[in-house]
Order: sequence, then C-alpha cells, then structure tokens
Amino acid sequence: MSIQRSRSEMLYAEALEHIVGGVNSPSRSFKAVGGGAPVFMKRGSGAHFWDVDGNRYIDYLCAYGPIITGHAHPHITAAIVQAAENGTLYGTPTELEIELARKLKTAIPSMDKVRFVNSGTEAVMTTIRVARAYTKRSKIIKFAGCYHGHSDLVLVAAGSGPSTLGIPDSAGVPKSIASEVITVPFNDLASLQQALDHWGKDIAAVMVEPIVGNFGMVMPEPGFLEGLCKMTREAGALVIYDEVISAFRFHYGSAQTYAAFPDKQAIEPDLTALGKIIGGGLPIGAYGGRKEVMAQVAPLGPAYQAGTMAGNPASISAGIACLEVLQTPGVYERMEALTIQLADALQQSANHYGIPLTINRIRGSFSAHFCDHPVTNYEEAQDTDGEQFAQFFRLMLDQGICLAPSKYEAWFLTTAHTEQDIIETITAADNSFKTMRA
Ligand code: PLP
Repeated sequence: MSIQRSRSEMLYAEALEHIVGGVNSPSRSFKAVGGGAPVFMKRGSGAHFWDVDGNRYIDYLCAYGPIITGHAHPHITAAIVQAAENGTLYGTPTELEIELARKLKTAIPSMDKVRFVNSGTEAVMTTIRVARAYTKRSKIIKFAGCYHGHSDLVLVAAGSGPSTLGIPDSAGVPKSIASEVITVPFNDLASLQQALDHWGKDIAAVMVEPIVGNFGMVMPEPGFLEGLCKMTREAGALVIYDEVISAFRFHYGSAQTYAAFPDKQAIEPDLTALGKIIGGGLPIGAYGGRKEVMAQVAPLGPAYQAGTMAGNPASISAGIACLEVLQTPGVYERMEALTIQLADALQQSANHYGIPLTINRIRGSFSAHFCDHPVTNYEEAQDTDGEQFAQFFRLMLDQGICLAPSKYEAWFLTTAHTEQDIIETITAADNSFKTMRA
C-alpha cells in the first residue's frame, strides 16, 4: 500500500527554491531514509496529524519531544490565545515567568535559580559559559553521541542530526574550539576518569544527557551518574545535565529526580539545561542551578546572557499549561502502559519474522534498533542496520504511522494516544516486518 503525497512533493520542490535544503532543520529531511520529499503537515489534533494531501498519521515523532500532550491540547491552546490577546512581548518582566520558574524549581530542586531562553541550544550553550566563568577553566568533557544543540562547542562528535547525516564535526567550527572539547563514550567511567586525569585542571564541566535521547533512548548503567558526579567534583569541575529531552518526559520532574536513581544527592548536577516540553510546543529553553554558580550570570555576575524574546508570555503560558496537564494524576502511568503494549508487540512481531530488533524503553518512550545486540552507547547505536530502518520507516509512513526519519531518534507517546492508536500501529508494524522479511 502506498498513499499519495503529490502535494507534499510539489511543496518540497518549491521549498527547495526558497529554503536551504527545503527544510528549516536538517533532521526534518528524509536524507537518512533514502531521500525524497518529507511530508508537509497541515494540522494536528491529539495524537494525529494530517498532511497537505489529506492523509492522516498517528504521530510518534511528537516534534522530537515537546508535544507530550498531543497536538492542540485545549488547555494549552487557551493559554496561548489568552497570551496573544494580552500582547505577545513587552520587554519587561512578567508575573508568568515567576510562576513557571517556581514550577520548575519545585520539580527539579537542584535548580536554586532559573533563567529562561529561547531554545535548548541556547540553554546548553549558556550553562557552558556559566561553568567556565565559575571555574575559570575552559575545556569541557562530553559523551559521544549525546546531542546538545548546535552551538560550536557541542557540535564536536555530536549524535542525533549530525550523526545521521554523517557530519561528525560541522564545517565552520574552528579547530581551536574543537580542541576545547573532549569526547568519551557514554556509560564508560574508566574513559571519563582517564580524560579527567589527563586534562585535570583545565576542565570546567562534564556535560551529559543523564538519560540519553539522542542515540536512541539509553539509560545510564547503575552507578554511572553517581561515578560521573563524584569524579567530576574531585577534579574541581561542574556537572551539567542536559535535560532538554528528559525533563518531564518520564515523570513530573527530571531525570535527576527519577525513581530509577535512589540516591538523589549523589547524582545532583550543578547546572541543568531544559527545553522542549517546558514550552508546551512553543519555543523555549531554560537553565538553572546552584545559587552561587548562577550568581555568575548578568546582571548579578560577569557572565553575559540575554534575549529579546526570552520569557515571552506566549511560550511561558504554554509551558505552565503543559505542566498543569502533566500534573494530572495517572498521565505518566497511562502513557507507560500504552508504550509497554506497543513495544512488546513490536518485539514479538519482529521476532516472529526473524528481524533482529532491540528495544530500549523508558516509560512512555522507546527506541527500536535494528540489531541483535544491546544498545548502551553510541558505538552500539551506530552498529545497527540503517537500511532496514529506512525501509521500516517508509512502510510505516505509507500506513499512516509517522516516526522520526532517523534510526537514532526515539518514539514518543503523548497523553492523547489511545489504545486504538496502539492497535493500528501494531498492525502496521506487523505488516511492515512481514514485507521486510519477504
Ligand atoms: N539538548 C538535547 C538533549 C536535545 O535533544 C536538543 C534537541 O534535540 C537540544 C539540546 C537542542 O535543543 P533545540 O533544538 O531547542 O535548540
């Protein structure tokens, strides 16, 4: 079965004339899944969206993470409309910013102070500047395959979009900047210790996605975060958690407060970067951390960071509304139950047709890797069958199931997915595996 997408194809041809590569973020292109026109969407409601040719899709892309309550959730829409009616930007502080900051601090107690920015990229970029200002050191250590946005420093051996496109280091990032970054494998404390031993007093911070969302969903092995925090502190450096994907994804809180980690104190970071879900689908980022570290930030301290759009009432209102929906009792449990049903069925179906598949599930999200080995780090995530993924992706798309066009990206569920959606998806996956085996 193949559904007709002639208008998407026409619009893609037109977009190529005006927008570089036809897309406003490279991860939206279909380059990693055999090329051609990406699907142009027109409207979304709940767990579904519709393309410009009128085809309906069940959405597991969820805009790469932010859309956790489904599209056009009425509570969030009402908050945005009200913000728009009151004027979208003042260039002054607002009471709303205090409300969202308070909500974030309550859910993520390691953040004594918060600052809002416009994207995850900005949030991460600034945590590095603040860590450098605080420690008066310049180098950072990061983990292979973790994606931290597109600022120069973190585009070194980055995963997600850049790895999908085979660009380990972006052109335009000077060698002098790349030399400020040391990359070590995730879940490998011995390599981290080696790097810290070698670079010692030059390291300002160790930056990590505490639960990885960018080479599939990957949990830290028991003791990894505890060891990372201990070693980093012993070296006099700061711990930065990039929780742009993980915050509010698995429970009402962040990875650092997640039940899987019993000793919260042992894994507490100095700084945290946030984005995606906390903006309820509008552009946002935030960073925060210990009071004395955040005191580096202007106007209190010497580390400069600013933003014309930062804390704009529409994004902040959408964020507050989104967190309110997520505070509804039972929402995470429901997403998890549906995800278990889906992931288990996918695994069974793949096994049935003899297609090697490794599923990493964490509550209401998972990644499905075409391989017969565990995926615990970037190297293992790379060592999976991209061609099989591309075939699966297209077969699913043609049955109205929208996944991210990359073997490294996760499937996200929302509060809006229903059991009917899951059943339809399981049927489509079974058909796809059957075709792939043939
Ligand atoms: N950090 C992580 C973990 C991410 O996954 C992303 C984006 O996918 C970013 C940072 C960058 O966020 P943004 O795309 O909002 O700039």
